[in-house]
Amino acid sequence: MVLQLMALPAGLVLVVRSVLGPVCFVVAWGLMGLIAWNLVTSVRDGMDRASAMHKIPCANCRYFTNDYRLKCPIHPKSALSESAIDCTDFEHSGLM
Ligand code: SF4
Repeated sequence: MVLQLMALPAGLVLVVRSVLGPVCFVVAWGLMGLIAWNLVTSVRDGMDRASAMHKIPCANCRYFTNDYRLKCPIHPKSALSESAIDCTDFEHSGLM
């Protein structure tokens, strides 16, 4: 590789070096920016998801059975899911 570079004209080598330096700098910092942006959006999405999960009221509902075979006899398909948020049949169990 060194021998090939030395075989190129000195002007071409100078041009390649002067172009590759800034291009590599921009590409490297661009990748770092993308990684940082991905981390920020992942944390934000995770917090939004956790916030939505904490709005599910079934764990404190009197109809919640805590049995995986039938979680709720009133709404068995929506129990413990996001569709149970604002459930009209929610009644507080009074345990907590
Ligand atoms: S009645 Fe509604 S809030 Fe209560 S356990 Fe069933 S789906 Fe959840």
